[in-house]
Amino acid sequence: MPAGFQKTNLMGLDQAGLELFFAGIGEKPFRARQVLKWIHHRFVDDFEQMTDLSRDLRARLKEIAEVRPPLILSENRSVDGTVKWLMASTEGNAVETVFIPEPNRGTLCISSQVGCMLNCTFCATATQGFNRNLDSWEIVGQVWQAARLLREERLGGRRITNVVLMGMGEPLLNLDAVEPALSVFRNELAFGLAAKRLTVSTAGVIPGIDRLREGVDVALAISLHAPEDELRTRLVPLNRKYPIADLFDACWRFLKERKRSSITFEYTMIDGVNDQPEHARKLVRLLAPMPSKLNLIPFNPFPGTTFRQSPADCIERFKEITRAGGVLTTVRKTRGDDIDAACGQLAGKVLDRTRRQAGFQQQLAQRAAS
Ligand code: SAH
Repeated sequence: MPAGFQKTNLMGLDQAGLELFFAGIGEKPFRARQVLKWIHHRFVDDFEQMTDLSRDLRARLKEIAEVRPPLILSENRSVDGTVKWLMASTEGNAVETVFIPEPNRGTLCISSQVGCMLNCTFCATATQGFNRNLDSWEIVGQVWQAARLLREERLGGRRITNVVLMGMGEPLLNLDAVEPALSVFRNELAFGLAAKRLTVSTAGVIPGIDRLREGVDVALAISLHAPEDELRTRLVPLNRKYPIADLFDACWRFLKERKRSSITFEYTMIDGVNDQPEHARKLVRLLAPMPSKLNLIPFNPFPGTTFRQSPADCIERFKEITRAGGVLTTVRKTRGDDIDAACGQLAGKVLDRTRRQAGFQQQLAQRAAS
């Protein structure tokens, strides 16, 4: 192979991408279906084991391609069953992935960027700044790794039924990588998730919402956090560029085109900031006309923040007002906060940098040797 040749990582290719890849080496499109199943149904990352491919093709693939997931640098378990993994693919660039088991479903929360550039004032991820976009194989690989590990555990019921892009980063600012990943998650030959079980959450990137409307069918969640522009801009600076009225126009376009039954609005409850009855009443005026669900998220503190969580009775009152106004409202149960895995807590407070890098080097060396 010529110097600098990089193997194609098939982990990040959806069916269309794999078909193109195989066409490029003179193979039939059905190879894509075979390989998708090996990778995502059987968790096989070694071409040698893909026994319905000819010996020649397997040898060829070994030379030019690989099936490589991100490495798992650490795993933390909460007393409530939540699991958080720190995964990395290049040195110093680790993201977090969280599994949240519930009695009849298992939700995996995945990251789309290393850090985030949106600077929402109440979110821990913002404090670490933006490093880079994840590649599609790093996004798919989070689900692949978690699914494989949970399957190995065989602790009945620990299965991924839902995937949410609510981890680190803004998925709609990385759609080139996010779209093929969504397509792999939806595909029956891979993870086979129904559209309603795959949620993309955005701080309100309107061009991204419009693009999503035309692409892979998924559920949409909007991080709203305030019922009027002045307050929202303080919490989510992106609101200056994409104010609430424009954002709601984009939501209507999405609902019409997608024929989705509703859009979920996330609203972090911050003590004395956005949690008063007047906010609830304004929110009703905004949400009641739209097929929507409101998800109240008690603010989760992180080092360095001056915000506090709204008291329980305040959240309860807020919920009652919005429900009385006809808005389907739920309160998100805080999960995994003992391991800093709760909403808004995903950030650098993991392993310190030197330990992380030493561990990473060691794992790279082990992998090269195996
Ligand atoms: N950038 C996307 C994806 C991240 S989602 C988005 O903004 O939607 C992360 C979710 O957790 C968002 O709804 C976010 O607003 C919420 N969140 C962020 N910080 C939080 C905190 N400290 N406590 C509770 N929820 C928080």
